[in-house]
Amino acid sequence: MEKKESVKVLIIGSGPAGYTAAIYAARAGLNPVLFTGGQPGGQLTITNDVENFPGYPEGVNGPQMMMDLQKQAERFGTKVIYGMVTSVDFSSYPLQVTVDEKDVYEAESVIVSTGASAKYLGIPSEEKFANKGVSACAVCDGYFYRGKEVAVVGAGDSAAEESTYLSKLCSKVHLIVRRDEMRASKIMQQRVLNTPNIEVHWNTETDEIVGDDSGVTGVRIINNKTNEKKLIPIQGFFLAIGHKPNTDIFDGQLEKDEAGYVKVIPGTTKTNVEGVFAVGDVADRVYRQAITAAGSGCMGALDAEKFLAAKEMEVAH
Ligand code: NDP
Repeated sequence: MEKKESVKVLIIGSGPAGYTAAIYAARAGLNPVLFTGGQPGGQLTITNDVENFPGYPEGVNGPQMMMDLQKQAERFGTKVIYGMVTSVDFSSYPLQVTVDEKDVYEAESVIVSTGASAKYLGIPSEEKFANKGVSACAVCDGYFYRGKEVAVVGAGDSAAEESTYLSKLCSKVHLIVRRDEMRASKIMQQRVLNTPNIEVHWNTETDEIVGDDSGVTGVRIINNKTNEKKLIPIQGFFLAIGHKPNTDIFDGQLEKDEAGYVKVIPGTTKTNVEGVFAVGDVADRVYRQAITAAGSGCMGALDAEKFLAAKEMEVAH
């Protein structure tokens, strides 16, 4: 283990939440250090065009947006380090963060912005058509399938919400449900069942997504009661089988809810540990948008700044 420099604001994660926190902390003169994690730029780097982030009338390419955010953070003095935080020790102060299992950093405050990852089915065709018709975010990508047929897999509130959302844009939505009932709340289920252009395929699983160079052209589904297979022509395939917050490294360190999201005091980014703040999708199971993540990143930096100022006052007296 190598002991590294002490950091005022240490940011874990490089999505819109982390970079926004970095921009604010850097402009406040707090010299933040940001660790990118294993997917520098976060979930937006696996998206094509982002059309719902205010300020880009023509839309913006996801990876480009993340490069711009990094540049903006660096311009004000953020030190961006390509590294993976592998463990943390928040049991004493200053806080300790270990990177790549070897470099130990001491931090006066930590902003956690490790995000969440959409769950995938784990079939090869999903990867093959990633960004070419396969998406895990209807609000982000639904618009590209206007007037087209699409499929959604899942049976929870996300699947219900996303299929209802898509039904307004697309000619038809096929909802692929693996059991004979949905987990979604009754009211959301009713909405799905009352929408004429949503067809629910019960007891059905995804066998394979099919397509060609142009992208997805269909999905082969299989009825798990009868084993009957069927090919449905679609152009978009949406996953809505849940997200997993990236919080394993905070086990025993931060309070989490039953789904693993970091708990914050409502209306703030404060966790149960003094000086540790959580922003973006890692603490948000409801909204999960780039703009809400960025907004909470800003809140995290302001909370950290206030915390550090109060600490300094304590020391001065
Ligand atoms: P959930 O965990 O609630 O649901 C996941 C769904 O995906 C389940 O129905 C599950 O099926 C299905 N599923 C899981 N794995 C597979 C698989 N391999 N193949 C096929 N289907 C699969 O996740 P959500 O994202 O829907 O919701 C997460 C949380 O967020 C919930 O608490 C939800 O209430 C909340 N939420 C609230 C919203 C709102 O109120 N507006 C909107 C969206 C989410 P099965 O049922 O068979 O296990």
